[in-house]
Amino acid sequence: MATCLLVAGGFAQTQVIAHRGYHAKEGSVRNSLSALKNAQDLGVFGSECDVNETADGYLVVVHGPNHGTYDIQSTDFLTLRKQMLENGEVLPLLEEYLDMVARKPQVKLIIEIKSHDTADREDRVVKKTLSAVKKRKLEKSVEYIAFHSHVCDELVKEAPKGTKIAYLNGDYSPAYCKSLGYTGIDYQYGVMQKNPQWIGEAKRLGLTVNVWTVNDEEGLKWCIEQGVDYITTDIPHVAKKMLK
Ligand code: MG
Repeated sequence: MATCLLVAGGFAQTQVIAHRGYHAKEGSVRNSLSALKNAQDLGVFGSECDVNETADGYLVVVHGPNHGTYDIQSTDFLTLRKQMLENGEVLPLLEEYLDMVARKPQVKLIIEIKSHDTADREDRVVKKTLSAVKKRKLEKSVEYIAFHSHVCDELVKEAPKGTKIAYLNGDYSPAYCKSLGYTGIDYQYGVMQKNPQWIGEAKRLGLTVNVWTVNDEEGLKWCIEQGVDYITTDIPHVAKKMLK
């Protein structure tokens, strides 16, 4: 049974982000359109997804580096698309994902822009992603995360003012992230446990704090007690119940 925790007044409550969507629901798989729809229906703060560019320039939602036996970033879209996801769904385009976001824009899409082999390619992926979001006027429904600081730097340069951009790699202090123009830290659970002082430091600097990927009740409880802003989890239904 999930533990219920009361959160003291004056603090914004911890919010739940479904890691690669709410894929734990029966019939779904990670990064599928159904996983995003499930997260929307569950009513969490946001749903995370991973974006890669195919060899012929399409942006696809998939973790990678492989899809089936194909290396995503060096394979063309149609070849990848013929390879179904494990549950029979098609490999989604970012465009299709954003159309699903438009269906319920109050649930944020947290786009992780994956690392690519050159800075030029990463710049292009950032520009294409921002333009697909802009085309649908979904700027307020989308936040960005990346492991490569180059991707975050490019987002800081190119995204509209006020866009949320958080760094994933866990090796920069909150103060350094702030100096680079990032709006949050989004660090692995183990990193955050080793550096719990970063939570308070980030908050004092006005940065958001997100922790990934917290998949057990003990970890969820720790994050809630620390007052982090977001928990990224594969069990969003459990986290949501604990926060009720
Ligand atoms: Mg991811």
